[in-house]
Amino acid sequence: AGGLFSSANPSFLDRSFSAAASDSNMIRATLFPGDGIGPEIAESVKQVFKVADVPIEWEEHFVGTEIDPRTQSFLTWESLESVRQNKVGLKGPMATPIGKGHRSLNLTLRKELNLYANVRPCYSLPGYKTKYDDVDLITIRENTEGEYSGLEHQVVRGVVESLKIITRQASLRVAEYAFHYAKTHGRERVSAIHKANIMQKTDGLFLKCCREVAEKYPEITYEEVVIDNCCMMLVKNPALFDVLVMPNLYGDIISDLCAGGIALAEAVHGSAPDIAGKNLANPTALLLSAVTMLRHLDLHDKADKIQDAVLKTIAEGKYRTGDLGGKSTTTDFTKAICDHI
Ligand code: NAD
Repeated sequence: AGGLFSSANPSFLDRSFSAAASDSNMIRATLFPGDGIGPEIAESVKQVFKVADVPIEWEEHFVGTEIDPRTQSFLTWESLESVRQNKVGLKGPMATPIGKGHRSLNLTLRKELNLYANVRPCYSLPGYKTKYDDVDLITIRENTEGEYSGLEHQVVRGVVESLKIITRQASLRVAEYAFHYAKTHGRERVSAIHKANIMQKTDGLFLKCCREVAEKYPEITYEEVVIDNCCMMLVKNPALFDVLVMPNLYGDIISDLCAGGIALAEAVHGSAPDIAGKNLANPTALLLSAVTMLRHLDLHDKADKIQDAVLKTIAEGKYRTGDLGGKSTTTDFTKAICDHI
């Protein structure tokens, strides 16, 4: 299924956005087609949006070929300014450039745009058989601190130290996001995932913040699950979960086990260099990420229309790309989706 923000996931950050609209009542959104298969699957999204008559005007930005000193990465300052201004964007996969002296693209986006909540929906696709057919859960990962604080050093030769940072402010912020998400998306339960039995101070603080927020939402059931138990339960019976909220590292792992006012939606997969340019890529993850972006913009009728068309195409099984066991090209699969709109 589609992922946000990630990688990504998608991260959907603040609900109080106000999308920039042009004269023609079109909503302007930033599009990063990305690398590898990115431009092919971004083209699918553009086509499907056109057929579905979605009022979005894309502002396209490609990853630069040189390091921009203002971002310290290959992402241009202009592209970040575009997202800051539009407050909403869709991102294709970006290959991680090898070499030193620059920040990773995803880290740059996360930091510069303050993408603090990484929201990954994970659900079974009707008509497409997988081990479980009743999965429907959302992982919400704190995206700014924890073990990813970047504070690592060598103490003495042969001994290194890495600091895990948990703050009350970031924990409350992501917990509030998770409960508000549950409430506004008809979800019933929020599970906080932790290892507070060992990480008593850090995960302990995270849980304390979750409990505090839970009290404000009596209509949502709150529970706490230790991370190792959570993994076992997810593998055995993923239908047990609804919304899961967790610190950064656990979210990185768990969401792969299952996918400042700015919302950036992205497909969970990478740039797939092995099939890039061959018209073989499956655009579903980016399309469903785009659907989530539409929901964020309250364009629910368009979102429903596109989601239904994608799911119907997959369920029918006549047009499926190679990764789903079919023989269709990206173009044919996209056309079949457009025909269902
Ligand atoms: P990948 O997800 O690109 O590919 C893994 C496998 O899945 C490949 O066999 C690929 O062909 C297949 N695949 C992926 N997406 C597909 C699609 N839409 N349709 C059909 N098949 C698909 O992972 P990787 O090979 O580990 O990474 C390649 C590059 O992507 C690396 O540079 C990595 O850093 C980057 N990456 C970026 C993101 C991101 O931008 N969020 C996420 C993951 C990886």
